[in-house]
Order: sequence, then structure tokens, then C-alpha cells
Amino acid sequence: MNKTKMIGTLGPSSSTYEVIRDMINAGVDVIRINMSYADFDFARDAILNVRKINLENQFETGIMLDTRGPEVRIGGLEKPIIQLEKNKMIRIVYSDIVGNSDIISVPYKEIITHSKIGDEIYLNNASVKLVVVNKDEDTLMCSIKNDGVIKTESTINVPNATFNIKFLSNYDKEIIKFAVDMQVDYLALSHVKEEMDILDVNDMLIGLNDNNIQLISKIENKQALDEIEKILKVSDGIIIARGDLGIELDIEKVPSIQKKLTKLTKDKEKICIIATEMLASMEENEKPTRAEVSDVANAVLDKTDALMLGAETAVGNYPVQTVKIMNNIIDEIEKEIDYNDLLLEISRNEEINISKAIAYSSVDSANRVKASAIVCSTMSGTTAKDISNYRPSCPVIAISPNAKVVRGLSVNYGIIPLNVGLAETTDELVHLSVEAAKKVLKLGNGDKIVIVGSFPLESVNYTNFMKIEEIK
Ligand code: PEP
Repeated sequence: MNKTKMIGTLGPSSSTYEVIRDMINAGVDVIRINMSYADFDFARDAILNVRKINLENQFETGIMLDTRGPEVRIGGLEKPIIQLEKNKMIRIVYSDIVGNSDIISVPYKEIITHSKIGDEIYLNNASVKLVVVNKDEDTLMCSIKNDGVIKTESTINVPNATFNIKFLSNYDKEIIKFAVDMQVDYLALSHVKEEMDILDVNDMLIGLNDNNIQLISKIENKQALDEIEKILKVSDGIIIARGDLGIELDIEKVPSIQKKLTKLTKDKEKICIIATEMLASMEENEKPTRAEVSDVANAVLDKTDALMLGAETAVGNYPVQTVKIMNNIIDEIEKEIDYNDLLLEISRNEEINISKAIAYSSVDSANRVKASAIVCSTMSGTTAKDISNYRPSCPVIAISPNAKVVRGLSVNYGIIPLNVGLAETTDELVHLSVEAAKKVLKLGNGDKIVIVGSFPLESVNYTNFMKIEEIK
């Protein structure tokens, strides 16, 4: 079973119960719905389908919802879709006009004042590129660099300008309320720029009495990169959003940013997700390119928690096949990892608490005795995450009586979340652990598992117990 997790984004190509089920059965661990594109009805149906599939499968697939973020969008247009032609000119103005192929409006004056002659501007998810060739106080005159279309409220990216826009729009507040009502597991926060953005969402969740949803910051602009240490401190993890990063910065900078962010995030023991265009050619084709296969494999070798499929599963022609191919690439490259070296690399000489010492020992023991699984009884999920952060050679079955807790572990490296009853004695824990290992990994006679938990349950609220069990 693969340890690097897969996130599959839903869209028109993957909206039905059957496709979602097949994606999950092909290895997707977290289903993602991006509310920049999906509406509430789509999201509700999808979440109910995932919950139904979880019941049938008897394991927990997590759910991630993306906010739209403080995106800047152009104003209304004369027609729903307007064609722009390469080498023609278009004016960008800050005023209340109805746009067409010669003129469009923007909602912030700073777009005009902060842009310089020679700056690039991108429209409609960067499908159309403009270059500023002239400007006055109220207008940018731009040359259109490629044929393309714009729509009413298409996105506009101006990489060199900064604006004072409130992070939480009314639409995003609705999304957060919806996420709490539907008990989703992860909120992916689009276009964060600073720690206050995440703290604002956190305040809203506290106001809604939610202490369950994990906050994943999407790192997709220069400001977020500049503030990354502070953002990581207040986030449960990050998505390295290579799509927008490649628009906001020079595209050739993206690989080194990916490497640095992956390492930093793992050093801080936070969730790390790599996203966008991992198998982009599979939107159209049944097979990926060699370069894409290498990209996926390299991300696995960087020991990231999860890889995300976006347009491939949302609008591509082969959503299930794409998941299968990614699963096979992960499976193959994970065989090459030397887990003993990896543990040495990760463990430092720092002082650690008792739970972490047990987590470290369980991984060291599992690697050395060639255990088939570590089974971790967890009330909050913390010990399971600690074990995962030491990157064991075998899967970690996280068992908990709390379904929300186990679902919240679905994106972490190597963790198989399982909702089971509470073990009140050590004998019960050993019994439950063996049964869990037999059920999810089909283990049998002679297989070894490492079991961790806390005892006595009434008085100890941290992990202090480890046993190596040979299944009979
Ligand atoms: C990205 O830009 O890489 C990304 C993941 O963002 P989105 O899917 O929201 O466009």
C-alpha cells in the first residue's frame, strides 16, 4: 500500500457517484472540491457521495474544500464570452463601464497605479497574456500577446502589484460556514499572503465552535513566500500551488521553490502537498509523458505527504485512469527509498517528549523487525502524525473511536485512518490492533505489527506504550 497520499479534485468529469467511487478505489485518499469553480449544490452532492462510499468501504476518505480567496476579477462584459486577438490593443480602466474586446474594467485603482510599462498582466486563469505598452492616470494600454477568450468576472493577475483587499470575502465566509455544516476535514485557503489571513479564518471557526477543520494554506504568490515561516506556524500544512506560482513568478523558479518549501514544511512537521500539472497531458491522453512520470516520482523522493491531481480529474477525459497511473508511479518509486537512512536523516539530537520518543521508537523498531504495520490508537491524531513525520517503511493504521479524528489524518504520509471502538485495556488494544491489521492489510500468521497507545486511559493523555506483536 502506497504511503504518499493522493488528492483528487472533482469537477464535471468526476461528478458522479460511480467516478468518485472508482477514483477512491484506485487510491485517492482525499477528495477535493475547489469552490472557485464548484457551487454549493455540486459540493453538497459530492460530499454526501463520499460519505456513502466511506460507509461501503469501511475506511475514511477525507474531504478538502478550497476557498476562492481574495481574487481580483474584471468587471461585466457586453457578451458572456469575448474573443481577444493577438497583437490587438485593449484598455484597462478603473471605472464603471461594460467591457468588450477593446476595453475592460477592474475594481481596484491600484492595478492602474502600480503597473508599469513592460509589466505582464494575465486574464482568465492566465489563458490570455497582456503587456502594458502605455499608461496614464486612469488607463493602462495593453498589447494582447495571444488569442484567447475572456468572460464576465474572469480573473486578472497582476504579478507586480499589491492591493489592499480583505482576505475573507462574503462568498468565502459562506464557504467556511458550509464547510463546518458539512464537517469537511480540510479547508485549503486560496491566495493567502500573511499569517493574519489564516488567523482570521481560525477566529471564524472558533466562532462557529469548530475545532476540527485543518487549515491548509495555498502558497501561490510572492508575498506568501516572503511570509512563509509565519504562515507555517499558524497553518496545519501547505499546498505548493505550482499553477499560480508559475504565473506570479518566473516559471523557472518553481522547481527550487518546491524543493525548499517541501523541506521547510517537513522540518516544521506540517502537512506538505504538491499540486498542479503533475499528469497534465492525461487530461487528453491515456498515458502521461516521461517528464510527468519523473515529476511525480521526484515529489515522492522529496518525502512530501501528498500529491494533488487538479484539472486531470476535474475536467480531464480519464479521471480514474489518471489516478491509477499516479498510484503505480508512487508504488514503484517508494520501493527505492531507504527508510533506515531516512529515519537517521529526520531524527535530530533534540530533546523530545515521551509521545515523540514512542513515535520514534515505533518507527525504528518497525523498520528493523520488518513489521508490516504500526497500529496507533489515537484520540487527537497527534501521535499518528508524529509517527508519520518519522516516515516509517510500513503503513501506520490510526485507530480511533472518533470518525472526525481519523478522517483528519487522511492526507498524512503513510496513515490508514480507521474508525473503530475504544480499547479500554491493553489486551483490548492488542486485539483491536491485530483485527485492524488483518482487515485493512490482510495480514496473517507470522506478520509483525508494532502497537502504540496510552495506558491507563483514565489518567494518561499522551502516548506511553509500545508492543511488538507477532500475528498468530
Ligand atoms: C495552483 O495554482 O497550482 C492551484 C492548486 O490552485 P487552483 O487549483 O486553485 O487554481
